[in-house]
Amino acid sequence: MEVLWAPWRMEYILTEGKETCCIFCTDDNSACDEERLILHTGKNTLVMMNKFPYVNAHLLVAPHKHCQGLDMLNDEERLDLINMVSSATEILKKAFNPEGFNVGLNLGKVAGAGVEEHMHFHVVPRWYGDSNFMTVLADVRVIPQHIRETYMRLKPYFKDL
Ligand SMILES: [Zn+2]
Repeated sequence: MEVLWAPWRMEYILTEGKETCCIFCTDDNSACDEERLILHTGKNTLVMMNKFPYVNAHLLVAPHKHCQGLDMLNDEERLDLINMVSSATEILKKAFNPEGFNVGLNLGKVAGAGVEEHMHFHVVPRWYGDSNFMTVLADVRVIPQHIRETYMRLKPYFKDL
């Protein structure tokens, strides 16, 4: 296993299992948005950067409702969620010009959910030659831009939503 500079992975290892509150349940304190890497908060949804990305600009889109699956959302919440996934994808296209995307849900620990109690979409931009999304630890990953730099670049796009 070869690990390139990736301090957020170490933070993940150190904090895993110690999170006391849900990262997706916001307290309406927008002063903390940058600290929590929240890019946008809408009526029913929020968008944040994945603090532990496998690829640069890996976004998470979640409903405000703390629930485990799509069946627990009402029609309006489900529609807002998929619309926000669409907006996030469009914004990534404008900001980083990716050549493709992986968009998906991991429902349940067995399916790879990091925070299984609060469902969230992964929106992962892809470029030819980037690291393989499905590969695990025994791999070299290069994230060319630091996560906070990426946050600052994306934030203005979400102001227009
Ligand atoms: Zn939650």
